[in-house]
Formats: sequence, structure tokens, C-alpha cells
Amino acid sequence: MKAVCWMGTGKLETLNVPDPTLLNPHDAIIKITRTAICGSDLHLYDGFIPTMEAGDILGHEFMGLIEEVGNDVTNLKRGDRVVVPFTIACGNCLFCRKKLWSACDNTNPNSHLMEAAYGYSGSGLFGYSHMMGGYAGGQAQYARVPFANVGPLKIESDLPDEKVLFLSDIFPTGYMAAENAQIQPGDTVAVWGCGPVGQFTIASAFMLGAGRVIAIDRFPERLKLARSLGAITVDYSEEDVNVLTALKDLTGGIGPDACIDAVGLEAHSTELQGVYDKVKTSLLLETDRPGVLRQAIQAVRKGGTVSIPGVYGGLLDKVPFGAAFGKGITMKMGQTNMHNYMKPLLERIEQGQIDPSYLISHRITLDEAPEMYKVWRDKKDNVTKIVIDPWAEKGSA
Ligand SMILES: [Zn+2]
Ligand SMILES: [Zn+2]
Repeated sequence: MKAVCWMGTGKLETLNVPDPTLLNPHDAIIKITRTAICGSDLHLYDGFIPTMEAGDILGHEFMGLIEEVGNDVTNLKRGDRVVVPFTIACGNCLFCRKKLWSACDNTNPNSHLMEAAYGYSGSGLFGYSHMMGGYAGGQAQYARVPFANVGPLKIESDLPDEKVLFLSDIFPTGYMAAENAQIQPGDTVAVWGCGPVGQFTIASAFMLGAGRVIAIDRFPERLKLARSLGAITVDYSEEDVNVLTALKDLTGGIGPDACIDAVGLEAHSTELQGVYDKVKTSLLLETDRPGVLRQAIQAVRKGGTVSIPGVYGGLLDKVPFGAAFGKGITMKMGQTNMHNYMKPLLERIEQGQIDPSYLISHRITLDEAPEMYKVWRDKKDNVTKIVIDPWAEKGSA
């Protein structure tokens, strides 16, 4: 089959590789019909994630048709159409039983590598380094999906792939960020970062009753999308714009009820051992703005909530914790517990409350993917989200 392979920092190739096969009785093989490139894939591309090996298949946002199932897979059969969550959960451990799926203790066979680097391990992830389990990703024609009884969400309506594909990561991630913001009806919510996760955070904040959403970014095409969802936008790259002042002005000097950091941070490389401190961020915006969390804490009103979908992996300097304490704020964060959100969000799509495909700017083939990673990284060509049809021939996607 064809697959997008990591061949070294900044070096991707679409190669012919062996088809995946069932390894365990709880596996399924999926014939992938649509897959996407994520902001966090750029950190693999840019070499920030340790334990990548040449030939590793990228991609953790994919869906498709069940091709084959192992003996223990009882709730899926050949031909079923499914969206696959990017986190892999066993469904049986302490954390899965608490519905903290992204903390699953059983799906990362290389958890010792994670523990050496970070002191803990979360669940395994598709296409995201050997330290995160070494699972082949979904920017390919087929993928092996372990624990297939637990993860994949069956799509039984005739909604097109593009409307449900983002249930694999960015829609649930944005939704959990808004849920973590503890929004009350009429609240003012500020969202830093209008990449794909930020977009779904904005949409979800409105779904959860926000009266106003203030979206902060610097890329015009992203700000435009945020406005199309009903957000007020602040372009912090404009010379006379100060984000904290703008947020004060918009809230009568009080500050937003909730602040959401959909940007994240790469840890300072001097703080942790070697290359491990280059931590992944799950979001689009490059981490040249390490002040977002500080700003969010400073901006939020007394007693408000700071929600953090942006990934942090290391040690943070000069976080105004005294202000966080003094204002009595709540902070909520963490990797998305995908399995809690996929089905309810599918229902919202089916009911027409949201059409996630609005985000897609580019449709490409697997062969075009290596080139498009560069476009994506450099934020060229007004790119907002790239979707791949793994079966399309060059020029036809
Ligand atoms: Zn993703
Ligand atoms: Zn588990």
C-alpha cells in the first residue's frame, strides 16, 4: 500500500510499504477513505519528537471501512464505516473504567520510554513516535487498529466522510476544551489560537452557551473563519494591539469568564534532559508565543476558569501562579478523552448543528502530502486544514 513515511527531520516520502496485518485478536484492519494532516504532525516533521525512526508512517486523524477483524472483535464487521480516535484505549484498565481514556495504562507498549522522559505515560497514539507506542499512522491506504471494540465509532448515516472525519481528533479536542472552560450561559470566553482546534473550541463554546467568544490570532484566514463562527477577533500582530488591554476593554475591565489556551508551548530545552524536552504540542500555531498561558491567567476574571487544550510537556518559567491563586481561578487541562465525545458530537453533526468540513482548505493525494506538509508548516496558500484521499491519483483529489 501507499503511505506517508517520516524519513528524517523535514523529510517525508510517500512510499509503497507492506499492508498491515492482524497482530492481535482485538485488532481490526481499516481501509482508509479519508485522513488529515494535523498541526501536531508538524512537530514530527520538524524533528521535535524523539524516538521517530525512518519509515514510520504518519497520521492520527483517519476513517474508513473495516476490511478485516480479529477473533475478539465482536461489534464491527467487514464493510462497517468507522472514524478512529487518535488515542488508543483498552477499555479495561482503571483509567478507562473512569472514562479517562487518554490515560489508558495498557496501550503504550513503550511506556518505559515515556516514563524516562516525562515521569508518566499516557495512552498509545497512532503515528506519533515509538515513545507513544510505535503504532503506524493513518496517512496511508490501510491501518491496523488495536482494541477495535473500544475505539472506532461506527457511522451509520450517509453523511460524507468530510463531515465526520474530524471526530478523530480536533472536534472532540476543541469540545473538551470548551467543556473544561465551565461555560455558563451568556459568558464571555477568550480563545487564544484559531487553528483547527481553536476553531472547534470557538464553535463548541457557543454550543455550550457562551454569549461572546473573543478569538485571538495573527493569521487573517484563521481570524476570518473565527468571525464566520460569530467570534469577535483580536489580531495581536497589529502594531497598536495589546491583548490584555483589548480583553479588558471588551469586558468592562473585569476580564473574560473563561480563557482557553489553544496554542500550547514547547518546553525550554535547557530544563529537561536532551532532546526529550522538545515536547509535542497538539496544536497548529508554532510555539513562538510562550506567553499565552501567562496571558490567559492574567486576563481571566477573578474566580474564572483557564482551560488548556494546548499541550505542555515540560517545565514552565514565570507562570504567574500567585495571580492564579489570588484570583481563585480554576485550571483544567489534559489530552482529550476522545471516547467520551465522539458519539455525542456525531449526533450534533447529524442534527445539523455544525458541519466540520467548513475548515477544509485543501484536498490532496498521498503523493502530494510531503509537499503539502511544507505549505502547512510555512502557513502558505491560506491553508487551514488539509484532507487526503488515499485512493485518489495525483491531481484528482
Ligand atoms: Zn490531530
Ligand atoms: Zn485502558
